[in-house]
Amino acid sequence: MFADVILPVPFDSFTYLVPPHMETRVMRGCRVVVPFGKSKIYTGVVIATHHRQPQGIEVKDIIEALDDSPVVSEQQFTFWQWIAKYYICPLGDVMKAALPGAMKPKDDAALRETSKKRQKRNSETADQTAHTLNPLSLAQQTAMQEIEASFQTKNVTLLHGVTSSGKTEIYMHLIQKCISQGKQVLYLLPEIALTTQITNRLRHVFGDQMGVYHSKFTDAQRLDIYRRQASPHPHMLMLGVRSSIFLPFQRLGLIIVDEEHEQTYKQQEPAPRYHARNAAIMLAHMCGAKTLLGTATPSFEVFHLAHKQRYGYVTLTQRYRDMQLPTIEVVDTKEAKRKKLMKGPFSPRLIEVISDALSRNEQIILFQNRRGFANFIQCHQCGWVPRCPHCDVTLTLHRKVSTLTCHYCGYTTRIPTQCPACEEQKFDSIGTGTEKIEDLIPTLFPHATALRMDLDTAKTRLQHERIIDAFAHHRADILIGTQMVTKGLDFDNVSVVGILDADLMLNLPDFRSHERAFQTLSQVAGRAGRKNRPGHVILQTRSANSDIIRQITAGDYWQMFLTQMSERQLFRYPPFCRLICIYLRHRDSRLLDHLAADLGQRLRTVFGDRILGPDCPPVSRIHSLHIRKIMLKLEHQAPIDQVRQALLAIQHQLTAQPIAKNLNIYYDVDPL
Ligand code: ADP
Ligand code: ZN
Ligand code: ZN
Repeated sequence: MFADVILPVPFDSFTYLVPPHMETRVMRGCRVVVPFGKSKIYTGVVIATHHRQPQGIEVKDIIEALDDSPVVSEQQFTFWQWIAKYYICPLGDVMKAALPGAMKPKDDAALRETSKKRQKRNSETADQTAHTLNPLSLAQQTAMQEIEASFQTKNVTLLHGVTSSGKTEIYMHLIQKCISQGKQVLYLLPEIALTTQITNRLRHVFGDQMGVYHSKFTDAQRLDIYRRQASPHPHMLMLGVRSSIFLPFQRLGLIIVDEEHEQTYKQQEPAPRYHARNAAIMLAHMCGAKTLLGTATPSFEVFHLAHKQRYGYVTLTQRYRDMQLPTIEVVDTKEAKRKKLMKGPFSPRLIEVISDALSRNEQIILFQNRRGFANFIQCHQCGWVPRCPHCDVTLTLHRKVSTLTCHYCGYTTRIPTQCPACEEQKFDSIGTGTEKIEDLIPTLFPHATALRMDLDTAKTRLQHERIIDAFAHHRADILIGTQMVTKGLDFDNVSVVGILDADLMLNLPDFRSHERAFQTLSQVAGRAGRKNRPGHVILQTRSANSDIIRQITAGDYWQMFLTQMSERQLFRYPPFCRLICIYLRHRDSRLLDHLAADLGQRLRTVFGDRILGPDCPPVSRIHSLHIRKIMLKLEHQAPIDQVRQALLAIQHQLTAQPIAKNLNIYYDVDPL
């Protein structure tokens, strides 16, 4: 007997011989230990057993069979295979993402031991008491009824509700209903950073029925949860980040995707480059479950389908208890700059509003979507700019730690004492990061204390929680941060939000930049005045009279959608077509150019002018690997199976050439 085994390497599967004494234990879905290459030993999952002797290759024996019954269910296999096909990546990569790292043999015995102990402790300490669901307001009740009604005819429904309209309260009622019918719920969040506040809220109501799953857990913890979900007594509610879609589910009834528009739902690196929201919709479909997508600012992909009535659509336009949405005041920094009134990135108006809030003992959030001190430094005399030796980017100045750092590969070096080109000793710092803003606070607001939250100060979950906790307890007046401060944070005493430079987001060379700016800036604005008074947002921009700024200040999603969609239609971008990006990577840029041109030509013979490129992406070298990109624009009705087969066939033609030996190719389907 032979077994096809998925291994944690970028291939679909490998065939092994099953020794006769193992034949009863080697089944589809069970783990086996196998030799690989010259000296490696891997654990893999059997995907099939058969009697077809592979031709022309040496077949090795399975070393050990680990399970008596499958650890990967049929439903999971179907899901894995869908991911592999849709996102054009090997099953081995999907398995690596799907199974907790600890499902390897050496740790197994030890893990079982600790796992038992931990489960015992958990069941002793867990808060079993389920409390005080809040009764829903009238508007919330109506929304809930509309959601349930739409689920009668649709598998997916979008809940489009302004921030603080009580979407989470509605989720909790739906979850309770689902659980009471004996069905499981998966609640997806875009980021670990968001889990703490939500976990506390849900734990209060669902107690030990709820489990939490994310990548910052240890392998042992993740294995525990995986096992429990496959056991006869799984958590009925699972709260998790994108990888939790790979957990085993037995009777899934509902998936909630909170903040569905968030980019972090898409895995960028490594493969599988899946979108957890889209994969969740497929998973729900496979399990006969429903999907609820919630957000205040829907992604175009989702809103478009809701608009076409493929998805159900439910809105909440009022905040809970009719609290006011914040007023957004636009400050034209072009004007202020011309009159030389700016103090660094602060306009006089922003300084005034912050000072007023401080005098009332209220707190302030300042948003700047760039970390570090300055974007880069430049020789005062000749204009020389230090760049990363491994990547095609400038180095970012981090002044507190006196370094220049590459935000792509982490390369770090000391700030030079003199310019290597002209020996000048003075450098100018260009652009403003969160660190520079923090630096200016003591000068501008001598009595205020500030905290900074970005990738440098909140590297770990604990650091992140500490900052939030300190700010929530008013141990600082001002919180300065990147994207991190925009998300799901709920502070009582914040009356002012300052957006220092909206143009940073608007001017990105990306067809989604306006959609994203609208989403992010609405989110950050929503942090102002959440509890008892309306908030005040100051939005600084050099394009005060643009449509997009008007749409953001008016909170007019619909106008923004219409404006942007007409451009997308004109230039054929999603959601009017589908994109597949084909990336090529190689150390040698000239060889890479040659191979990329070759691939482009081959692809054009099949796909014609649907192929764009090859081009250099905005950052065309990372970690010493040069990168080229070819884009495929497909009609929605394109036969996706055939497209994938054609792409792979052409890839194999290309890579069969000896010069393509060290070429790396991968696909990014529905790139963000
Ligand atoms: P969203 O998820 O739409 O941002 P939340 O569910 O977080 O809104 O609600 C915002 C705030 O209002 C929270 O503090 C929440 O506890 C409160 N809230 C919303 N609906 C209710 C309700 N029906 N009863 C009590 N409090 C509510
Ligand atoms: Zn110089
Ligand atoms: Zn670098």
